[in-house]
Amino acid sequence: QGRLTIGVRVAPLSQQHVLVLVEDRTHSRRVEETRRDFVVNVSHELKTPVSGLTLLAEAMDDARDDPEAVHRFAGRMRVETSRLARLVQEIIELSRLQVADTLDEPVLVDVRVCVREAVEHLQVVAADRDIEISTALGDPSEPALIYGDGNLITTAVRNLVENALNYSDSGTRVGVTVQPGPDLITLVVKDQGRGIPPADLDRVFERFYRVDAARSRRTGGTGLGLAIVKHVSANHGGEVSVWSEEGQGSTFTIRLPAARPAPAAPVIPAERT
Ligand code: ADP
Repeated sequence: QGRLTIGVRVAPLSQQHVLVLVEDRTHSRRVEETRRDFVVNVSHELKTPVSGLTLLAEAMDDARDDPEAVHRFAGRMRVETSRLARLVQEIIELSRLQVADTLDEPVLVDVRVCVREAVEHLQVVAADRDIEISTALGDPSEPALIYGDGNLITTAVRNLVENALNYSDSGTRVGVTVQPGPDLITLVVKDQGRGIPPADLDRVFERFYRVDAARSRRTGGTGLGLAIVKHVSANHGGEVSVWSEEGQGSTFTIRLPAARPAPAAPVIPAERT
C-alpha cells in the first residue's frame, strides 16, 4: 500500500556532468494498476450474463417444437438482457466518474428535488415488497442547495434506496432524510434490513464487491451501485459513510458542501441632489 515507485533517468551532459532525473511515479503506477484491475473485473463480470444468454439461446433452439418452453426461455433471456444492459450502463457511468475527479459544469442543484425524484421512481417497487419509504426533507425555509450535477445526485440517492429495498424484508421501513446546514447538506438513507457484517463494512464501496454474491445477483445487483455513490460524492467535494449492525439495519450518509449564497450586492445610497 505505502510502496513508493521511483523512476531514475541518467543522461550524460558533458564529460564532467551528468543529469540525474528522479521522478516519483507512485501515482501513475496506482492509476495504471486501478485501470488494469478494472478491465479484469469488467471482463469477468460480463462473461457471466453473456454465457448465460448463449446457453439460453441453445436451449431455445433445442426446444423449438415446444412453444411453452420457448416462451419460458425467451422470458429468461429478457431478464438476462436487461441485467447486461444495466451492467454496461453502470460500467460506463463509473468509468466516466473515475476518469474525471471533478464535474464538467457544476450548476446550482436543489438536493430535495433529487431526493423526491429518486424516491418517486421506487415507491412502486417498495409497495410491491411491502416496505414503506418515508422522507423528511428538513425545514423548507432553509435552502438545500449544492453546486453539481443533479442527475448524478439523483442516481446516488436511487442506488442507496434501491439497496435499502433489496437488502430488507417486507414489513420494514426505509427513511430518507435531508438535513440542510450552512456548510454541509447531509443526506441519510436508513433501513431496518439485514445489515452488513463488520468485516465487510470497509469494502462495500469497492466496485464489484458484494457481501452475498448470490443475493446481489438475484436482486439484479451489479456490485457497482455503492462505487458509483462514492465517486459521485467525491466528485462533488463530499463523502459517503456507512454505519451498520447485522440484523438491525444500515445507515448510509452522504455529506456534500453546501452552495454558498451569492454575496448580496452592496447597497449604494442614492445621491442626494
Ligand atoms: P449490489 O449491486 O450488489 O447491490 P452495491 O455496490 O450497491 O452492489 O453494494 C455492494 C454490497 O454491499 C451489496 O452486494 C450488499 O452485500 C451490500 N449492501 C449494500 N447496501 C446494503 C444495505 N442497505 N443493507 C445490507 N447490505 C447492503
